[in-house]
Amino acid sequence: MRLRNVPGAREEIAASKYVLLDDAETKGKWNEIFGNDHPIQIEIGMGKGTFIMEMAQRHPEINFVGIEKYSSVLVRALEKLEAINNEKEEKGEATINNLLLFRMDAENIENYFAKDEVSDIFLNFSDPWPKDRHAKRRLTSDRFLARYINLMKKTGTITFKTDNTDLFNFSVKTANEEGWTFLKKTDDLHHSEYNEGNIMTEYEKKFSEMGNKIHMMQIIQ
Ligand code: SAM
Repeated sequence: MRLRNVPGAREEIAASKYVLLDDAETKGKWNEIFGNDHPIQIEIGMGKGTFIMEMAQRHPEINFVGIEKYSSVLVRALEKLEAINNEKEEKGEATINNLLLFRMDAENIENYFAKDEVSDIFLNFSDPWPKDRHAKRRLTSDRFLARYINLMKKTGTITFKTDNTDLFNFSVKTANEEGWTFLKKTDDLHHSEYNEGNIMTEYEKKFSEMGNKIHMMQIIQ
């Protein structure tokens, strides 16, 4: 994602009730933070948040955390969430209260979630890090898969979508080598049996309009 400094982004997100920053003490406290014991699903690298906001509206029985590394990106998601909630308020509808936006680098994710606190993980169009020497930074590398095991329930799934064939092949190979079981796998999500109910992310829209096929896998421990 091309990054632009957004003046005031840090201040704007720090002041919002919808946002947690990386100084937040959240590990083992998510039930308290949400004020209920609903399952928690997270998206790592949510970008502008279209996917997770739609998920939160479709599934009020689940709590969602949208994780994003950069304030300048997260602020765009925040503005969208505030606009949706303002509109809902004007119409007298219930606002989205099962979603928090978390500005945090997923490299440190184990500092923020305790064992079994996360039900499911979504990785959408994660940065490909094409150079071999950066492979460990990919969100589907063995290092990250090991981190996820330390947060997720045994029954938890990881769902990963990308149009990047090299990254997808790498991710499939890594998940296989690390002993994960595949629940779903397709090289053309939009023309597959798994497309029903699919929520398109910003990148998914952009790349599928360019004619790229969307790969998807869902794995479980
Ligand atoms: N998921 C969105 C979509 O599909 O439209 C955005 C995809 S964008 C290519 C990847 C996003 O992941 C960027 O916003 C980037 O800042 C974020 N990201 C990359 N590495 C991250 C990390 N280690 N922790 C948190 N967010 C990260």
